[in-house]
Amino acid sequence: MTPLSNFIKIRKEVSELSINTKIIVVSKTFDIKDIYPIINYGHLDFGENRVQEAKLKWSNLVAKNPSINLHLIGNLQSNKAKDAVNIFNFIHTLSSEKLAKILKNEQEKINKKIKYFIQVNVSEESQKNGIELSIANDFIKFCIHDLSLQIIGLMCLPPANDIPDFYFTKLKKISLENNLLNLSMGMSNDYVTAIRFGSTHVRIGSKIFGNRN
Ligand SMILES: *Cc1c(COP(=O)(O)O)cnc(C)c1O
Repeated sequence: MTPLSNFIKIRKEVSELSINTKIIVVSKTFDIKDIYPIINYGHLDFGENRVQEAKLKWSNLVAKNPSINLHLIGNLQSNKAKDAVNIFNFIHTLSSEKLAKILKNEQEKINKKIKYFIQVNVSEESQKNGIELSIANDFIKFCIHDLSLQIIGLMCLPPANDIPDFYFTKLKKISLENNLLNLSMGMSNDYVTAIRFGSTHVRIGSKIFGNRN
């Protein structure tokens, strides 16, 4: 099994479950030589969780192949916002007013329109990133109406040791209340369930590349 053959198998499975679901190939920690076969196969959506790593790994490649979409799926610190706006096309982890304002400012400076998912802390875990449930609706409205950010959907990361159904349902409900069409949910171990609950963007790493060290 190679990353490409794993990817092709998953792609077939996903397309049979839903015609609306995109696969984000999560390439964090993996070397560009491991990723190349999937790029050459024609896949365009890749996920990274660290700005610095993404910049080093992808800058040359995206310059040569501007159709590649890079998705930031990890926490973003405001001092990395400028670099993030430069290299990424999608940010899945928008979760504070402060960050939203900084990103708005940075993307205007270079006249780039990033597409955002707002991360919601559906499990209400204190250590987890994501906007609190009780203020999620207000924050979504703020980003759309006050900042005119292009908010395309919501993202969540359910607790690893729990059945995810409840959290996926909750995220879907908030998206419907706010007329948001996209849901970034589901990883290697729960993407089939996530698709059943309406995921439009599954983020898959280890099932393609193997375990990360
Ligand atoms: C690493 C990561 C993934 C991919 O996880 P796998 O279990 O390897 O598929 C998806 N989403 C986020 C936010 C991640 O950090």
